[in-house]
Amino acid sequence: MRKIVIVGGVAGGATAAARLRRMDEMAQIVIFERGEHISFANCGLPYHVGGVIRHRQSLLLLTPETMKRRFNVDVRIHHEVARIDREAHAVEVRNLLTGETLAEPYDHLILSTGAAPVRPPIPGIDLPTVLTLRNLPDMDRIIAAAGAHPGGKAVVVGGGFIGLEMAENLRHKGIAVTLVEMADQVMTSVDRDMAALIHQHLRAHGVDLRLKDGVTQFEPGAVHLRSGQRLPADVVILAIGVRPEARLAAEAGLEIGPRGGVRVGPDLLTSDPDISAIGDMAEVPAFGSSENTWVPLAGPANRQGRLVADRLAGLKIRYDGIQGTGIAKVFDLTVASTGKNEAALRREGVPFQSVVTHSNSHAGYYPGATPITLKLHFSPEGKILGAQAAGLDGVDKRIDVLATAMRLGGTVEDLTRLELAYAPPYSSAKDPVNIIGYVASNVLNGHSRLVDWRYVSQRDRQQTVLLDVREHVEWHAGHIPGAVHIPLGSLRDRLGELPADKEVIVYCAVGQRAHTATRILLQNGFNAANLTGGFRLYQTVAQHIQA
Ligand code: FAD
Repeated sequence: MRKIVIVGGVAGGATAAARLRRMDEMAQIVIFERGEHISFANCGLPYHVGGVIRHRQSLLLLTPETMKRRFNVDVRIHHEVARIDREAHAVEVRNLLTGETLAEPYDHLILSTGAAPVRPPIPGIDLPTVLTLRNLPDMDRIIAAAGAHPGGKAVVVGGGFIGLEMAENLRHKGIAVTLVEMADQVMTSVDRDMAALIHQHLRAHGVDLRLKDGVTQFEPGAVHLRSGQRLPADVVILAIGVRPEARLAAEAGLEIGPRGGVRVGPDLLTSDPDISAIGDMAEVPAFGSSENTWVPLAGPANRQGRLVADRLAGLKIRYDGIQGTGIAKVFDLTVASTGKNEAALRREGVPFQSVVTHSNSHAGYYPGATPITLKLHFSPEGKILGAQAAGLDGVDKRIDVLATAMRLGGTVEDLTRLELAYAPPYSSAKDPVNIIGYVASNVLNGHSRLVDWRYVSQRDRQQTVLLDVREHVEWHAGHIPGAVHIPLGSLRDRLGELPADKEVIVYCAVGQRAHTATRILLQNGFNAANLTGGFRLYQTVAQHIQA
């Protein structure tokens, strides 16, 4: 009987075990998990801290007993795999309760050991008030610490997904939160302008956001920052990122990639054909690229778990790469992205253009519509390279449509052709995804030229004119310094006021009226461009991105 040993019993490991059993009733399947729980909902942990998920029990999806009864999988919790002996085809396992060590042979080994929170050697990092969040015991410690200081103060270090979720959930508990982030933006998976929307929202919800600052020291009851400030802190959540748990694999001589994860190919095999690696510990092929990448997310870990089981069951598999689709709830705001962001495209030297739109989540005349800011990156041929979205409602379905289009090799032209479900409570006859397709195809076929907030702030004031085409009331409520104002309705009559020898950068609130104005100007011989994302995005960036 073939024996499959799995190290790590949560997202990737438990999925691989269950799928393999469904495919192969005969195999012997053993899971070693060093913690107390298998198959728990890591992604739900922050929400139990905040009391949104009320019952701790709801986070436990499968117990070792259910796994045995339902799938005939031998699960051994509190068992840590300490070493892989590739020659002997065995792992050395320590029982963490008894201290005993045993050797467990395998025919095939699946590694799904995940990623561990980064804990740099900052003075005071080992204080009991400096907490990280990976599993249920971590969560229990945070709940106890927060409970000991009702109405107290927390410092969250790190503005990634977990840091943001923790900031929100600690606020739910009535705790004052300061969020410290070393970079000039939170959530580096999105571009700076999109992050500005998150900064604005965090501040509106009472989070004291400190960008471009880092921790130099922790002490009981306080955190010291590089800027010289001392922040009082009853609880500190350290959420500055995770690192692949690849020590076992590295010590066994398996090939390790540049980000510290175990390198696997499209077959999810490591450099040893008898060992697979999946999930957060693995550097896997990137979607649409010949490179490998490392993206620690639950969806890919689950998918890889299923695929590896299929391969062991004799099916042909090919992991066609991680696309990096992610989403986060930041209080009422939903922020999501798929594919590559600006920074990655620039780093890789990929030519691209970008458009930003603000469309309503559903028909404006039906109650409750709110704007969705959508951003799309596409190649000169129109291929979708990445997308980002932020808003209060309907963000998840738009990013999922865009992620699907991208996965299927779609172009901006394809977005204009998608026939999406519409009735006033849900969308508009032109869905936000259609709209961004129209805007991007106008750019591609030369009907429109767009510039972004950076271009406007760095413009050559001698060679450009900034034109605001909004109504008087909007202009008086605020405008970009140095702009001239001609409302769209009177533009045709006042063209003579604009210099024909300068570039005219047009803006309105969101970009739609400015597009019409740009078309008027272009057809009258002006060199005109539209500020993508309009005044709304420009103003948010100006107020919420530190220079
Ligand atoms: P894990 O699920 O981490 O499982 C690895 C297991 O291996 C661990 O239980 C560990 O104890 C065990 N292990 C490690 N070494 C050994 C050893 N030597 N011997 C025995 N056992 C070992 N992803 C999303 O896509 N969306 C989200 O909203 C989201 N939210 C998250 C929130 C939090 C707080 C956290 C911590 C993660 C979140 N993630 C989210 C990430 C997601 O949980 C991971 O991508 C996913 O769990 C990875 O699965 P995995 O199997 O690789 O590792």
